[in-house]
Amino acid sequence: MNLVFNLHRLQKIDLQIDAIIARSKQITQILESDQSVQDAKNAQHTARMLVEQSHRTLRSLEEELKSLQVKKETDESSLYGGKIQNPKELKSLQDEIESLKKRISLLEDQILDAMEKSEQAEHTYQTAEKLVLQAEAAFAESMASLLGEQKQLQKQKENLEAERATLVSAIPNDMMENYTMLRKQKRGIAIASNEDGACSVCGAELRPEEIQASRSPNQIVCCSSCGRILYSG
Ligand SMILES: [Zn+2]
Repeated sequence: MNLVFNLHRLQKIDLQIDAIIARSKQITQILESDQSVQDAKNAQHTARMLVEQSHRTLRSLEEELKSLQVKKETDESSLYGGKIQNPKELKSLQDEIESLKKRISLLEDQILDAMEKSEQAEHTYQTAEKLVLQAEAAFAESMASLLGEQKQLQKQKENLEAERATLVSAIPNDMMENYTMLRKQKRGIAIASNEDGACSVCGAELRPEEIQASRSPNQIVCCSSCGRILYSG
């Protein structure tokens, strides 16, 4: 078997494995960094706080109204009960009732306003709740598709690794060491092709004797410019 051909084939497999590893890493990062669900949950939390706050406001206004109404009823029964005869006292009681009526009317307006605000807050909360469900569904969908892809990549990688092992067993150890070292030094590309008389990686023109030698089955010829092993397939 042609040694350089095997090395060239090995490099193809290694580049595919590298790409699979890179994509797989990317998928893990995408899945780990997904913020959409958390953002939707934060918005829902804020909306819930606003609902609770609006309920508290409403309750306190209603309690105030109740106490004013009780006071007004008490004043009215004193006014009409006949126990109080003093005109000055009666006048002050009437004044107080009038003032209570005004405060009650004002408070009723405030309660209507607070009720409206409370309804709005509840509506916002319901929308936020729906958005959480949507974000969760979208995330689950993208997770399923990405996990499916990752599984497929894993399978491809296993097949390539099996193919690689067979190939490596046909390559002498010292050549493997040479290849591994070159890949490390040359950004993953140890083998360059002869492309119309030039090195496919660095572009240097090849001498005729280099081309000639690179065609012989078991001779290793390196590009005199970049040092990569030349393959003339
Ligand atoms: Zn070169």
